[in-house]
Amino acid sequence: MNSQLRHLPQVEAVLKMPAILTLIDTYSREEVITVLRSSLANLRADLLAGRSQELPDFDGAEFTASIEKAIGTSRSPNLMPVVNATGIIIHTNLGRARLAPEALQAMYDIGARPSNLELNLATGKRGSRYDHTTALICELTGAESALVVNNCAAAVVLALMGTAVGRKVIASRGELIEIGGSFRLPDVIAQSGATLKEVGSTNKTRLSDYAEAIDDETAVLLKSHTSNFRIVGFTATPSRKDLARLAAEQGLILIEDLGSGVLIDLSPYGLSDEPVVRDILDAGVDLVMFSGDKLLGGPQAGIIAGRAKLINGLRKHPLLRAMRIDKLSLAALEVTLRLYRAPFDPLARIPVLRMLSQPLAEVQARAEKLAQCLQELDGLNVSVAHSSAYVGGGSLPQQTLASFSVLLDGRARWAADAIADALRHSSTPVIGRIHQGQLWLDMRTVTDEEISMIVTACRAILTR
Ligand SMILES: *Cc1c(COP(=O)(O)O)cnc(C)c1O
Repeated sequence: MNSQLRHLPQVEAVLKMPAILTLIDTYSREEVITVLRSSLANLRADLLAGRSQELPDFDGAEFTASIEKAIGTSRSPNLMPVVNATGIIIHTNLGRARLAPEALQAMYDIGARPSNLELNLATGKRGSRYDHTTALICELTGAESALVVNNCAAAVVLALMGTAVGRKVIASRGELIEIGGSFRLPDVIAQSGATLKEVGSTNKTRLSDYAEAIDDETAVLLKSHTSNFRIVGFTATPSRKDLARLAAEQGLILIEDLGSGVLIDLSPYGLSDEPVVRDILDAGVDLVMFSGDKLLGGPQAGIIAGRAKLINGLRKHPLLRAMRIDKLSLAALEVTLRLYRAPFDPLARIPVLRMLSQPLAEVQARAEKLAQCLQELDGLNVSVAHSSAYVGGGSLPQQTLASFSVLLDGRARWAADAIADALRHSSTPVIGRIHQGQLWLDMRTVTDEEISMIVTACRAILTR
């Protein structure tokens, strides 16, 4: 055993040293103790593992500085910005959609000062937070009315509770989705107080399957967008128009859980599988639910759009309050929606749409610029290669976007996962993906401003 181990002091002893006492004056005793404990534990582990042979001077400037640095780190927020170089534009683990500057400004203004959140300025009477975005959503989707809650999962629960409690919901076996975080449609239907009636099979469900399942207790036909997977091959599913006709004939409500709501046609950008909200309502769907922070490109929110009579019912639901959208998200959502109207060009203004529609040549230029900056650093082999980016956020699982990546190779010295690990620990973490033994930094999800952050992070890990 390392003889130094016997000289490793107790926390109590270090706490009495003059240099450490100064730290306690500046910070707090609790913080110093927490950091000291883990520092001593690390030293012990290093000695035991033979990674170090010496103990520091616990009352010296170097050790005190290391404790102060650790306190600084523990004081900075856990939630922090990262560089998304994964090539997945709407990455749920990385916070989904970036917001437009206009939306960020709105959050700042509404957060910094009182607002007319629930005050009707025209009458001086109480107003509703739900009124601020209704007309805009109706204009952009063709809906009769709309309601905004805190996310799409809440929108689904509210829509089911408000239309089908104590009654039956008919859904296709091919659409009983799980969207992650164990939000499974069959469980959600049960928890909403409705009874699920499954029809059809995993790959084929016909209109007649729905028709035959309808009885006196049926309230809703539920369609769900199979947004994060595809069943291909021998498949069938009735059209929305046919389902809408059946629902209308039988006095039922047709609801669609859409997930990623697109407000404009993205097929010119090679993304043809994602239905536009307006087309869904035109086909006769009574209520459609979609997220604010997926392809819409706004903040976390859940939007319910459709028939005024149904929306009015949901607005009176006693649990709406438990799902209400907060004022900052509402501010960002309203301004993001406004960017969809002329004279604005949403493809230029909304970051998610700008990234997915950006010409490949611009992505390539960004990759080449980054590669050029990194080539000046010693210790890495840097190259540029074609890659595939994804929309993400559970949208368009099969469609890829042509992209370019910068590939980092640590030669014999660094394995790809060691580089990935070091970049993730940078003061601005950089998140890429490992493929074929190299770290790929995809440039479709990185902005020009973030290039220098990547260069700084790489320089820091190479000179460490
Ligand atoms: C993403 C998704 C949801 C959940 O949306 P959140 O805004 O994350 O709550 C619900 N349904 C479908 C089909 C989805 O893709």
